[in-house]
Amino acid sequence: MEKKLTRIIAAVLVVLMLATALVPVLASANAQEDYENAQAELNRIEKELNSIKDTKKKQQQEKANTQKQVNLVKSQLSSLNTQIATTSQELAEKQAELDEKKVEIYETDELFKSKLKAMYIRRSGNMVATALAVDTFSEMLTAVNTLSNISQADTALLQKLNEEKKEIEAVEAEIEEKLAQLEASREKQQAKQTELAGLLQKVNSQLSATEAEEAAAQAAYEEAKKARDDAQEELRKEFAASGGLDGFVGGDWMWPVPTNTYISSGYGYRNIFGYREFHTGIDIPAPEKTPIKATNSGVVTVASYQSTGYGNRIIVDHGGGYKSLYAHCHSLAVKVGDYVVQGDTIAYVGSTGLSTGNHLHFEIRVNDQYVDPTPYVR
Ligand SMILES: [Zn+2]
Repeated sequence: MEKKLTRIIAAVLVVLMLATALVPVLASANAQEDYENAQAELNRIEKELNSIKDTKKKQQQEKANTQKQVNLVKSQLSSLNTQIATTSQELAEKQAELDEKKVEIYETDELFKSKLKAMYIRRSGNMVATALAVDTFSEMLTAVNTLSNISQADTALLQKLNEEKKEIEAVEAEIEEKLAQLEASREKQQAKQTELAGLLQKVNSQLSATEAEEAAAQAAYEEAKKARDDAQEELRKEFAASGGLDGFVGGDWMWPVPTNTYISSGYGYRNIFGYREFHTGIDIPAPEKTPIKATNSGVVTVASYQSTGYGNRIIVDHGGGYKSLYAHCHSLAVKVGDYVVQGDTIAYVGSTGLSTGNHLHFEIRVNDQYVDPTPYVR
C-alpha cells in the first residue's frame, strides 16, 4: 500500500516535472506567435495610418489650391469694382457733356429760328419798301445774299454741333458697352466666388473627417504598438529565462533597415576594380545613424570593431545554426550576451572598416556557411 502510494507520488512528480520543463517551450512558441501577430497588426494599422495621412496631404493641397483661387477671385472682383466705379464716373461725365451739347444745340436752333423769323418779318413787311428802296437790282441781290449767308453759317454751326453730339453719343455707347462687359465679368466672378465658397466648405469638411479618421488610426496605432512592445518584452523575458539556443528561436525574418529597401550590391560574385570577388552578403545604403534592426531574435555573440574589413559589426546567433551579421556600423547599441528580439535596434548605419559610403553590409550564415539573405528577409 505504502509502495503504491510512493509510486503514485513519484509518477505525479514526474508528470509535474515534465510539464514544468515543457512550459517554457510551449509558452515560447506562443510568445513568438503573439509577437508576430502583434507585429502584423501594427504593420496593418501603420499602412492604414499612412494611407490616411496621404489622403490628408492631398486634401490639404486641395484646400490650399481652392483658397488660392478664392483669393484670386476676390482680388479680381476688387479690381472689377474699381473699374466699374471709374467707368460709371466716365459715363456720368459723358452724359453731362451730352446734355450740355443738347442744350447748346437747342439754344442755337432757337436763336437761328428767331433770327430767321425776324429777317422774314422785316423782309416781308418791307417787301414793297425793299423793292422801292433798293435802288438797283444789284443792291437787291446783295440783300438776298446776306440773308442766305447768315442762314448758311447758322446751318453749318448747327450741323457741326449735331456732329459733335453724335461723337459724344458714340463715345457714350462705347463706355456703356464697356460697363456692361465689366458688369457681366463681375457677375461671372461672383458666381465663381459662390461656387468656390461651396467647394472650400466641402474640402474643409472632408479634411475634418480625415483628421478625425487619422486621430482614431493614430490611437489604434499607439495601442497596437504597445501590444507589440509588450509581446516583444514577453518574448525577451522567456527567451532570457530559457537561457539557451538549442534550436532556431526566431520566426519570420525581418528586413534589417525598414526605412531603406534598395540593395546596391547583391550576394555572390562581383567585379571590383577588375577583380572577381565573392560578396558574402547584401549592401543596403542608408543615411548615417539610420537604426539597424535585429532580423530575428537571438543572442549577440559579436559586438566589436574589426579594422580589416567589417568595421563595427554585430553577429546575432538565432540558434539552430542560423546567424546574422551587420557590418560597417557607425555605432553599436547592444553588447555580447544580450538577448535581442526581432525588431530591436542593435546598431546604426555607418561606413566603418572597408567601406566607401554609409551602408549596411548584411549577412545570414547557416552552419557557418554564407547564404543569400534575400530569400529570407524579402
Ligand atoms: Zn557588402
